[in-house]
Amino acid sequence: MRFFLQTKFGTYLKLAELIFFPSECELCSRLLELPDERIICRTCLQGLKPRRTSFCLCCGKFFDDAGEPHFCSQCVLQKPVFSVHRSCGPYFGSLKDTIILFKYRGFHVLDKALATFVLQSLGREESLWWGVDSIIPVPLFPEKQKKRGFNQASELARELARQKNIDLIENQLIKVKKTPPQTSLEASERRKNLKEAFAVIRDQGIKDKTILLVDDVYTTGSTLQECSLALMKAGALEVRALTIAQA
Ligand SMILES: [Zn+2]
Ligand SMILES: [Zn+2]
Repeated sequence: MRFFLQTKFGTYLKLAELIFFPSECELCSRLLELPDERIICRTCLQGLKPRRTSFCLCCGKFFDDAGEPHFCSQCVLQKPVFSVHRSCGPYFGSLKDTIILFKYRGFHVLDKALATFVLQSLGREESLWWGVDSIIPVPLFPEKQKKRGFNQASELARELARQKNIDLIENQLIKVKKTPPQTSLEASERRKNLKEAFAVIRDQGIKDKTILLVDDVYTTGSTLQECSLALMKAGALEVRALTIAQA
């Protein structure tokens, strides 16, 4: 009887799962059969590879050549407010598709898979992690977060903080200005648009601390730049930044 109930419960569980989650991989349409597979199959997740070409030691921009990392011309002229930024790979192909599923299709169950990918790619980068006191996600404007139902950067930051055992600070760095979607704007417009868009409302865990900012996609760096300015204004010792991909 007990075995029967257990089997029946297991069947209900699987049925519930099939209702809430698609049963085919959203990227390759293969049937999701393994117990821990959600939305994307294990093969597709293992296919996500970090970029191994050269990059700017400061802003993290990828270079096309395979030489040693060095400073880009922009960082030689003027360094950003954050001391270092790194992303795992280009916003392209299956990495882009996975981020879109996570961010716009609302499959936040992918947070663990993406955090694991981030740590496989950049988990040993001492320039990012050494001495970090707290992790802070790039905030969304409250109205936008309400509409989306969640903040993708928070989900990712939460998972990274858990896996790395670092304090997570949420709701202290906030977005105070509603801005149009950054993708629709030129670089200079983006900067202007985001000016003073972020503020720190409580400096506990920020003042005199080394902060790692987390976001999903890096485009021109304006968002990270403005968040870093707000954090430095609140007394942060150093701000570093990490994103999954760069466009
Ligand atoms: Zn697949
Ligand atoms: Zn640079």
